[in-house]
Amino acid sequence: MQLIFIRFDDVFEKTPELEKLCSFFTKKGIPICLGVVPGSVTEECRIYLKGLCKKFPKLIEIDQHGVRHIRNNKGEFDISDEKLVKELKWGKKKMSELFSKDFSEVLTVPWHTHNHSLFFLSKKLGYHAISVNKRNDVNAKIFYAVGNFFRKHELLGHHVHSDTQRKNEIPEICPAIDFQENYNDAGKFKSIAKLKQEFINQHSSQDKYCGFLIHPQYVKGPKRFAIIDKIISSVAEYPDIIFVKMSTVLKEN
Ligand SMILES: [Zn+2]
Repeated sequence: MQLIFIRFDDVFEKTPELEKLCSFFTKKGIPICLGVVPGSVTEECRIYLKGLCKKFPKLIEIDQHGVRHIRNNKGEFDISDEKLVKELKWGKKKMSELFSKDFSEVLTVPWHTHNHSLFFLSKKLGYHAISVNKRNDVNAKIFYAVGNFFRKHELLGHHVHSDTQRKNEIPEICPAIDFQENYNDAGKFKSIAKLKQEFINQHSSQDKYCGFLIHPQYVKGPKRFAIIDKIISSVAEYPDIIFVKMSTVLKEN
């Protein structure tokens, strides 16, 4: 059985795209993990999300996506440890104030950039898990396997993702499939054939779980929405998968 989760990034405004996607998934009974930006979420959006949590408690997870979602060097968290701790403390407190018990205390990372200390510091600050992207090509899989075999957290300056809990480090729950080809080009989507192949590869791997990443602001127009519909519907047909929240992956891992 493979666990499948759907992660939304950049949630801070109640937009028609966000509403359409939330209603698509909740109608199908598929859980979604919404990465909210504490520094910019509007009150209208907060009320909307709280309403979703109340209506679909089993389907909605409120995660934290960054703190202010501003770019420092390579990404928001590419800052000194001291500044990082200050920012994370502020963001976590804000999320708890805004969403109280609905906040999962799972942290997702903007631009997928991170200093290695993020994995230790976020644990110290009481987060339950962290979600950054991991590559799913063959070379990357070999790289992670070699790194994990030698119990390395970092190799050649790159983070070694691990699905196994490591000492003093926060557990990782990383999505492997991004609907987008890139973030230029108005967030160009991958083709249905490419996405299907990526899922086939993930599904046939030994990975316990597979995550999909969606940026609602780029799901503009019926064509892109149809791609998500097609892929999710075809994934749902696999008899040995189950859609879950990231917090469920954490419990099962
Ligand atoms: Zn983002």
